[in-house]
Amino acid sequence: DPTARNAAIRLPADLYAPERQNSRGLDLTDENTLRALAAVLPRSGIHDDTDGQPVVNPADHRDIVGRIAFTTPEQVDAAIGRAEDAGAGWSGTPPSVRAAILARAADALEADMPRLLGLIVREAGRSLPNAVAEVREAVDFLRYYGAQVAGSFRNETHRPLGPVACISPWNFPLAIFVGQVSAALAAGNTVLAKPAEETPLIARAAVRILHAAGVPPDALHLLPGAGDVGARLVGDRRVRGVVFTGSTDVARLIQRQLAARLNPDGTPVPLIAETGGQNALVVDSSALPEQVVADVLSSAFDSAGQRCSALRVLCLQDDGAERILTMLRGAMDELSVGNPDRLATDIGPVISAEAQARITAHIDTLRARGYRIHQAPLPPDCTHGTFVAPTIIEIPDIAVLDREIFGPVLHVVRFARKDMARVLRDINATGYALTFGVHSRIDDTIAALTSRAQAGNIYVNRNLVGAVVGVQPFGGHGLSGIGPKAGGPLYLRRLLSRCPVLDGA
Ligand code: GLU
Repeated sequence: DPTARNAAIRLPADLYAPERQNSRGLDLTDENTLRALAAVLPRSGIHDDTDGQPVVNPADHRDIVGRIAFTTPEQVDAAIGRAEDAGAGWSGTPPSVRAAILARAADALEADMPRLLGLIVREAGRSLPNAVAEVREAVDFLRYYGAQVAGSFRNETHRPLGPVACISPWNFPLAIFVGQVSAALAAGNTVLAKPAEETPLIARAAVRILHAAGVPPDALHLLPGAGDVGARLVGDRRVRGVVFTGSTDVARLIQRQLAARLNPDGTPVPLIAETGGQNALVVDSSALPEQVVADVLSSAFDSAGQRCSALRVLCLQDDGAERILTMLRGAMDELSVGNPDRLATDIGPVISAEAQARITAHIDTLRARGYRIHQAPLPPDCTHGTFVAPTIIEIPDIAVLDREIFGPVLHVVRFARKDMARVLRDINATGYALTFGVHSRIDDTIAALTSRAQAGNIYVNRNLVGAVVGVQPFGGHGLSGIGPKAGGPLYLRRLLSRCPVLDGA
């Protein structure tokens, strides 16, 4: 009972919006759905711009998905001014009306699903099932945050912060973009949205849908561009809050920059940052090998490992480890790596040549140390995109890893039963705290590990990815982030200048 668990901070029960339903998405086992998608996927580019930066398909660099003009410094400054001026109008719009607008945008996203899927696949190299999950998650965020302001927030005096900068990543170019923006808008803030440089087109499609649904143009500005656009937003005193998902290093820079000033009410500028992870799964000898292999494959290699939540370190109890590794290598060899425009593709490209070089250099460094490596085969037609073969590398211990590798690379550490507590200490010592998992059929082992693991999201006998909005709030602490979890009951409150429930707690 979530209400009882959170009684200490006195959350209104309907923050959990129990009547709310998650988006159903598409049934990809239905033959007719698949046939319709196969027809629409290859044509989902954006052909209405002839100027601006080309956006290339990471699966095939010959394919220009569209073009977009990057925002100039003068345009950033002007957009902040307009967002500031639009503040009174948007925050004065009744919460129920804001929620209705977001709900309308959610319906429009669902109705426009095939085109959006095609765009996500081509612009971000995501597989079709990943793209479907992303549209669903975006829809869920819109409805969930809207339901909160229309529900339990209804009778509270809450004041929005003012213009909020939303700086989003390319790995969930629709879901995280819409998640940040919808939260800020639901709370009554105006928004300056800076999508990842690599994936501005799907962000533009989402903004057009939000505007058409009734978000006033000046309450939501799309500012495509590189890091300089984000830096300019963060450095501007008129920006009263920042929501960021990306690397730990950039989050640190943002935090440092925000620490230099205060909002007009004398409080620090709120920052919600969701960053990386060195996520581990501990598997003991009682675990069910077939289930372990299936969950490891999806956790480590789905999305080509480009999820913050992805599994990076698999810790196997030595009895049984060889059996699991043999099965895992066999299953990896069956993965279909390639252009996700084919419905059968399991693993698409990594986002850029730079990412590919960084991941490959890491693999080469560990190979040079003589660690045992297995790589799935890459098909010959992968040469036009930036692909990395799913890879497992056996390492002596976690301390070998000095940073997160954001790609399809899984490290394996073996341990003796008596050393399980030390393995957990090593995991916690990385300083990251995002996802963690246990595979075991022994209750005491599960309890011992889950009670001591430092992680925001802990999973037992399942995979580590795909947290569901409103059901599994997502986010970490330590090097993995700061602020409340996305898709959870506290997120919106960080985007308000007064927080009645927590003030009283
Ligand atoms: N929420 C996503 C998941 O549970 C991960 C988000 C991210 O990679 O930033 O898999």
